[in-house]
This record gives sequence, C-alpha cells and structure tokens, in this order.
Amino acid sequence: MIILMQPDATPFQVDNVLAFVQSKGWQTCVTRSSGQTVIGLQGNGQPLDPFYIGQMPGVADTMEVTERYKLASRAFRPTSTTFTVRGVTVGGNGLTIIAGPCSVESRAQLLETAHAVREAGAHMLRGGAFKPRTSPYSFQGLGEKGLELLAEARAATGLPIVTEVMSPHKVALVAIYADVLQIGARNMQNFDLLNAVGEAQRPVLLKRGPSATVEDLLMAAEYILAHGNDRIMLCERGIRTFDNRFTRNSFDVNAIPVLKQLTHLPVIADPSHATGVRRYVQPVALAAIAAGADGLLVEVHPHPEQALSDGDQSLTPEEFARLVAAVRQMAAAVERSVG
Ligand code: PEP
Ligand code: MN
Repeated sequence: MIILMQPDATPFQVDNVLAFVQSKGWQTCVTRSSGQTVIGLQGNGQPLDPFYIGQMPGVADTMEVTERYKLASRAFRPTSTTFTVRGVTVGGNGLTIIAGPCSVESRAQLLETAHAVREAGAHMLRGGAFKPRTSPYSFQGLGEKGLELLAEARAATGLPIVTEVMSPHKVALVAIYADVLQIGARNMQNFDLLNAVGEAQRPVLLKRGPSATVEDLLMAAEYILAHGNDRIMLCERGIRTFDNRFTRNSFDVNAIPVLKQLTHLPVIADPSHATGVRRYVQPVALAAIAAGADGLLVEVHPHPEQALSDGDQSLTPEEFARLVAAVRQMAAAVERSVG
C-alpha cells in the first residue's frame, strides 16, 4: 500500500501514521513527491483497512500498487511527468532533442558542435567527460577539463548540459557543472550510483542496460524516485540480441509504447547507440517518434572520421539538421511538436 499525505500534513500527523502502520508490523519508506509526503509500506504486516487509514488526520489517499515499481507506475501518478531544465520543458506534447558529441575532445570540437546543434534546433547539449569504454586503452574522456568545456559551451549557446557520471564519488563534482546527470547503460544497475543521483536532486537521464528488461529499467528509476527525485528521463538505447552483426544493438521500439503505458516518466530514444551506424540513425529516430518517444539523444561530431569515440554513429552537423527537419514532419504526423 502507498499512503499519500495531504500537502499541508504536519510532521506530527506523518509520525502518527508511521507509528500506526509500524505497530501493525509494516516497514515504511517515506519520500516526497510533488510537494506531498508519500509513505510506502513494505514487508508482511497485518492486513490494513484502507478506509480507516484514509480517515487518519493528514492522510489524503491510499492506493494499492501491485507492480514492483511503485513511484514510477502510472497507477501512482496517472498524468505524465513534465519538468524543466533551465527553461527547457521535458515531457508533455513537445519533443526534447539532445545532441552533441559522444566525448568532449577539445574546446574547438565542442563549441563548433554546440553552435551547430543549436542552429539545427537541439534543446540540450550532450557530451561525455567521463567515458565508460569497453577497452581500458581507449580514450577515457577529459574528466573535469571536459566538464569545464561543457560549462563554457552552455554559456556560449544557452543550451543545458547532459553529461555522464560513472561513479557515486564523482556525483558531487559532475553536479557542479551538469544540468542533467546521465547514467550510462552499463551503470543502470549500479545501485550506489542510483542512490547518489537520487540524493543529488538533479535531473537524470537513465539509460536502459544492454540486457535489462523494461521492468529492470523501471526498478532502477524507482531507486532515484525513492529519494524524492522525480526529474527522470528514461532512455531506450538498444539492447543486445542474437543478431547484432549489422548494428551495434537492436533498438527495442516496443519498449517505447510499453514504457509510456507503464510509467508517467518521459521516454527518450537514443538511435545513435541503438544502431551504431550513421545511416541508420535517422530512420530509427523517426520510428521512435512515431512510437511515442518524448525526445531524442543523438551523437553529432563536426568530423566523425576523427572522433575519439563513436565516430561511426556520429552525424555531421548537416546530417543532424536534416534529421531535425525530418523529425519535425514526423512529429506533426503524430500530433507532437518540436519547440
Ligand atoms: C554515451 O551516451 O555516449 C554512452 C556511452 O551511452 P551508453 O551508456 O548507452 O552506451
Ligand atoms: Mn557514445
């Protein structure tokens, strides 16, 4: 059961409810969501009468959420979550386009890309300063220097910054610079990291792990939500399947309408990592929008052949501008807009 307290419930009223349900053998998890205290009950306590609890002072409502993910479920919040990042709205009818290089490589590379993607219509700038690489010998990112360059690019273009944080110990550092903390696919079930970004109270872009189920993704989001941080974008970025010979991953287009059904959180699609191949990025991006995605994450590099990571899937600025134009047409077809 979940107990929703009234927005003006006093600490005394909250404690009173907690004491009552705990006396019935339940463990409790208290979070705040949209200004309301939410009490989640866990374990195997004695049966409770929802009518009795609903009458307790300060209680607004009770609900049974049968899914394992509670705060992420549509049952808990039927209306879609929207939030703003430096004035950019995420969720709702408008699509959010996030673009930039896989890795921040240099001042010139980042600023050129930032200006180009803004011109083409991107709403946020992405770029990795700390890179999760399969090989320890590959470029690992510029670290804090990369974060400084991202902040400079934000100052120059006004675009909010999305960048990855790989370790719980780095959350405080990355949060000094980033507007959105990205959790990479390989870290989707790094529970210490999920707790740390939950506590940071900063918007999060949470990528689906390459072999994570949709429910695994929602349970990962639940970790962040349990800290009262509900500014989360879920990101479908392709999964490992039996046939990844011609593409890096398989884009799970099913996951988009399924997630939109199961959760109130906005869903972003990443056709770059899903395909790993430049020529397939636009068709998969359009499929994602047609399926109901709330936005895109696209890798763009001024000279993809020189990129230090993910050059094969990076679009040139010109290709990205064409993609945005095509996305506008698809958005109109599904009665969405691109601001
Ligand atoms: C990235 O966004 O550059 C990245 C490393 O993505 P993923 O975690 O999805 O592989
Ligand atoms: Mn990448």
